[in-house]
Amino acid sequence: MKPRTIIEKIWDEHVVVENPGAPALLYIDLHLIHEVTSPQAFEGLRRRGLKVRRPDRTLATADHNVPTTDRSLPIVNQISARQIAQLEANCREFGLTCYSVHSPHQGIVHVIGPELGRTQPGMTVVCGDSHTATHGALGALAFGIGTSEVEHVLATQCLLQRKPKTFRVEINGTLRPGVTAKDVILALIAKIGTGGATGHVFEYCGSTIRALSMEERMTITNMSIEAGARAGLIAPDDVTFQYLYGRPCAPQGIEWDRAIARWKQLPSDDGAHYDKHAEIDAGSLEPMITYGTSPGMGIPITGVIPEPESIADPIERESVRKALAYMNLEPGKPLLGHPVDVVFVGSCTNGRLADFRAAASILKGRKVNPRVRALMVPGSYEVKRQAEAEGLHEIFRAAGAEWREPGCSMCLAMNGDQLEPGQYAVSTSNRNFEGRQGPGGRTFLASPLTAAAAAVTGVITDVRTML
Ligand code: SF4
Repeated sequence: MKPRTIIEKIWDEHVVVENPGAPALLYIDLHLIHEVTSPQAFEGLRRRGLKVRRPDRTLATADHNVPTTDRSLPIVNQISARQIAQLEANCREFGLTCYSVHSPHQGIVHVIGPELGRTQPGMTVVCGDSHTATHGALGALAFGIGTSEVEHVLATQCLLQRKPKTFRVEINGTLRPGVTAKDVILALIAKIGTGGATGHVFEYCGSTIRALSMEERMTITNMSIEAGARAGLIAPDDVTFQYLYGRPCAPQGIEWDRAIARWKQLPSDDGAHYDKHAEIDAGSLEPMITYGTSPGMGIPITGVIPEPESIADPIERESVRKALAYMNLEPGKPLLGHPVDVVFVGSCTNGRLADFRAAASILKGRKVNPRVRALMVPGSYEVKRQAEAEGLHEIFRAAGAEWREPGCSMCLAMNGDQLEPGQYAVSTSNRNFEGRQGPGGRTFLASPLTAAAAAVTGVITDVRTML
C-alpha cells in the first residue's frame, strides 16, 4: 500500500462516498456547537422537520457572548442574553448536552473538547468556528465550518468536503528561555504569510513539537487558520495518551487499550508524500510580537517595524501601510518600550492552565503597572478550578490583575470585555484585525510571558530581561 500521511489516513477512514470531481461525503465523529453560529442551523432543522442525527456526538457550550463577570448577575447585554437563552432552548428541544453559563463544564468550545476527553486522535471534528483546528493537537482532523454546514452536520452527521492538500511543517530545536509555543506559531505565520497554507492541512512535526506539552501543542494548531490552512494536526504520541488518560469522556478499561492500539497506527508512514513543506529552526527564535492588523505581521520582540517601501509585493506593501496607519505606528522603529493600556491573557489560544502558570511566573511578587488594566480569563471552569487550586488567582490579584470567569472575553468584542477606541492591548489571543477587540482598539499578539511582562512595565518588554 502507498505510504500515507496521518491526514490521508483519517480522511480515508471517514469517507462515506467520494465520486471523481465532486466533494466527498465525510463522516463526522464530533460536532461542537456554540451560541453564535448555531441558531440558524436549528431553525433550518425545525423548518424541515428534521432531528439531530447523533445527539451523542454533538456537544454545545456558551462562550463568545458569556460575560466574564460574576455569574450570579443577569446578563446585561440583551443580544448576548438572547443568544445564550436560544442555545439552551435549542439544546433542550433537540436533546443535546449543553454546557451553558451555569454548568461546571462551561468554557470555550476549543478548551472543553480536549479537557473532557471528547476530542480524540483519529477523529473528524467540526465546529462553526474558525479555530476548530485547535483539536488537531490531539491528532484529530478538525476544521471550522459555516452555518449551513452546521445544519447539514446536525441533520446527517456528515459533511461535503474536498480532499485537502497536505503541508508538512518541520520544527526542530530547543526553545530558548522566554520563547514559547505562541512564538513558534507566530514565527511560522510571519514566514509563510496568512495565505501560505490556503487549501492545505498542516502536519506539525519535528523535535520541538515532540517536546511540547499537549496544551502548548494546542496553541500551535489553534492558529493554523491564520496561515490560511484548513486545519493543522500533530500525530499522537505518549504525550497525547498521557493527556487523555482518565479524562471523563476518554475510553476506559479494555476500550482504552483498544484505542491506544488504533491511535498508534495513525502517524504518517515513512515516505508519505506532502504537497508543501516548511521548516522552522525553533532554537534560534526570539519571543515574537505582531505590529499590524494580521497575525502574519509579526517580528521578533527586539526587531523593528518594517518599512512598507521595502516590501516587494504591492498588495502586501499597501496592507502593511494601512495596518501601520490603523495602529498609529512608525516604520523603522522598535516596538520595545511602546506604551500599553490593556493586557489580556486568555482565549482558545492561550487560556489554559500552562498559560496562567506562565503569566503567574512573571507576575509573582510584582505589581501590574497602574496605567495598565490586566485581565486574566480562564478558558473554562476546569482551568479556573485548577488555577485556583494552585493559588494562581491569588498571585494575579496580589499583583493587581483581574481574575475573571471563563469565556472568550477580550478575544473579540462581543461580551462586554473590550478595548476603548485608540487603546493598545498585548493579547494572547489569535487575531489582531481592525476592531477585533473593540472599535478602534489596537492589538499586539504575543505569548502569555510577553503579555505578563508588559502588564508589569506598562510597555512592550522583552520578557527575557525579567526571567
Ligand atoms: S477565544 Fe476567540 S478565537 Fe477562540 S473561540 Fe472564542 S472568539 Fe473564537
